[in-house]
Amino acid sequence: MAEVLVLAEHSGETVKKVTCELLTAAGRLGEPAVVWTGPGAEAGRERLAEFGAAKVYVAAAEDFDDYVVAPKAELLASLVAASSPAAVLVASTAEGREVAARLAVKTSSGMITDAVGIDDDLIAEQSIFGGAIVVKSRVKSGTPIIAVRPNAITPEPAQGAAELVPADTDISDAAKSARITERVVAEGGERPELTEASIVVSGGRGVGNAENFALIEKLADSLGAAVGASRAATDAGWYPHQFQVGQTGKTVSPQLYLAVGISGAIQHRAGMQTSKTIMVINKDPEAPIFELADFGVVGDLFAVVPQLIDGITARSGG
Ligand SMILES: Cc1cc2nc3c(=O)[nH]c(=O)nc-3n(C[C@H](O)[C@H](O)[C@H](O)COP(=O)(O)OP(=O)(O)OC[C@H]3O[C@@H](n4cnc5c(N)ncnc54)[C@H](O)[C@@H]3O)c2cc1C
Repeated sequence: MAEVLVLAEHSGETVKKVTCELLTAAGRLGEPAVVWTGPGAEAGRERLAEFGAAKVYVAAAEDFDDYVVAPKAELLASLVAASSPAAVLVASTAEGREVAARLAVKTSSGMITDAVGIDDDLIAEQSIFGGAIVVKSRVKSGTPIIAVRPNAITPEPAQGAAELVPADTDISDAAKSARITERVVAEGGERPELTEASIVVSGGRGVGNAENFALIEKLADSLGAAVGASRAATDAGWYPHQFQVGQTGKTVSPQLYLAVGISGAIQHRAGMQTSKTIMVINKDPEAPIFELADFGVVGDLFAVVPQLIDGITARSGG
């Protein structure tokens, strides 16, 4: 069975959830082989094995931490040349897409970004125009390189050996031309990262002001969720722009998306329409967001949300 390379997203020792999702997709296509850059592979190995990694190519050199994306693309290109994989899967994050693009150029391959599914014949599915259209496409030249949207695939445990295989390669001077000089940890507190979270609670203009966003945060915390916001809320300065969901913000695809006081403009839908279950709280029964809702509550959020928090807290025994 041909290998399917999966570029691991990790933070030092912690394997990010999207890597497990990619492993699940890779397991349906061939033999999953993780490509791990920088330190931490030993610590991450167990989790990779739990999701079916047969091999883990480890490039532990500091070059991968010190420079931006180019060394990763060079490493992947050398592994593609050596192992002729059936496909290369990366996370469709800003970094993953850039690595994919560089790899595509280096290997004269086609690439697909923002896939929300891949079938057994390597036909990738993309959801575009706010989810109104599904595009199916297949790479016809070179090694298919597919960037898969985080949270699009449900990770399924599958035991693998996760054999560690050293894969250090000489990184060219050209790949070292942009060096990372400082890392600043984004303020995010204890909440999960927006694009990785299984549950997202987003607030919109209906929330009314910045102070009221504490209610959205409280609801999110009761569920272990990330907080998102519509552009109306971020433009008004009620919540930071990095949490904006939509066409010009982040794309999320969680198991559960709660839209609170959000009307459901096409630009907002574009960033959340592929969520597995959508719940809406809005006082206007005609709000377009209800067209997407699996569950909807027509009501004033200031009456509904506190009751919801009480109910969730009572259920979780808090
Ligand atoms: C080029 C472009 C890019 C854009 N990109 C984005 C983007 O990335 N993300 C994005 O979100 N938008 C984006 N927009 C803006 C988008 O068109 C909408 O203006 C925006 O999404 C509206 O945000 P909203 O739903 O919070 O506000 P509104 O449309 O004003 O809706 C507020 C909703 O809250 C409800 N409400 C009010 N009070 C309460 C209450 N007490 N209880 C319950 N419900 C209440 C109302 O019934 C209403 O449905 C973009 C626009 C353009 C032109």
